[in-house]
Amino acid sequence: MGVDIGGTKILAAVVTPQGEILAREKRATVAEEGPEAVISRLIGAIEAALSLAGTEPARLAAIGIAVAGMALPGEGVVAFSPNLRGWRDVPLRDIVARQLGVSTFLINDASAAALGEHCYGAGRGVNNLVYVTVGTGIGGGVIIDGKLYCGACGVAGEVGHMTIDVDGPRCNCGNFGCLEALASGTAVAREAKRHVAEGAETCLPQLVGGELEMITAETVFQAAQKGDPLALEIIAQAASYLGIGLANLVNLFNPELIIVGGGLAHMGNMLLSPALRVIRERAFEVPAQAVRLVTAQLGGSSGVLGAVAFALQQEAEVRP
Ligand SMILES: [Zn+2]
Repeated sequence: MGVDIGGTKILAAVVTPQGEILAREKRATVAEEGPEAVISRLIGAIEAALSLAGTEPARLAAIGIAVAGMALPGEGVVAFSPNLRGWRDVPLRDIVARQLGVSTFLINDASAAALGEHCYGAGRGVNNLVYVTVGTGIGGGVIIDGKLYCGACGVAGEVGHMTIDVDGPRCNCGNFGCLEALASGTAVAREAKRHVAEGAETCLPQLVGGELEMITAETVFQAAQKGDPLALEIIAQAASYLGIGLANLVNLFNPELIIVGGGLAHMGNMLLSPALRVIRERAFEVPAQAVRLVTAQLGGSSGVLGAVAFALQQEAEVRP
């Protein structure tokens, strides 16, 4: 069983060890109701997915849970989450394991997505890769020698919070000039609104019926596809910042592959081409020539599939 808890939705899926999804159930998170209510909806989603697959908890090998937040795999605790209100030191692993009687494992959602793409998606057969999710925020995961790199506390891979510009805009994490503050969907929307407010000539207001607060990264992408010069410039700017972040990762890890997932990945070459150009300009020549930049393959299923892969790996280590 793979579960993916995000700020807006919970996805639970019954998955075979080969990564085939047999049944899935989606529920709203309603994060503002706090951990207890969210956990009860999560259990509900798991039970519904099991019933859709015509199976029961006793037949599960394990449950893997991917959380949009700081998950400590060793303790099985969600230390905190910017997207889930009130979650502080929640012992989610043991709560779910006790309630369903199945060994349960906890992992950060971006790390899970990295593992999912490595085991079942764009990174199959590639032993050294970096996965970066570019959406509302920016997260990531690093696969080294075929294994997810977890770090000392299990929280490695926060690629969105490397500093790109010391004097840059404030980030959601409280710092300034993080990659997330410059190249995420939130950053793209913020820049678009700022330029519109300053009177820039663009079709953006028209696309949102004059309601400027409605401008999202998706709106900017739509305008860019129509050839709107401002929208094209904003995306090129974000892509260039993304390229700087990726160039740092290329020098650090010498990956064979960088997989870009998340909501902005469907911008495709509009995002990836300028980013790759910056990688080639800024990273050392040998690793820069060796790396390929591709979009993710698993879409919204990367979290549940990665959570399953993680649970199976952990289970194998516990009971070899
Ligand atoms: Zn940050």
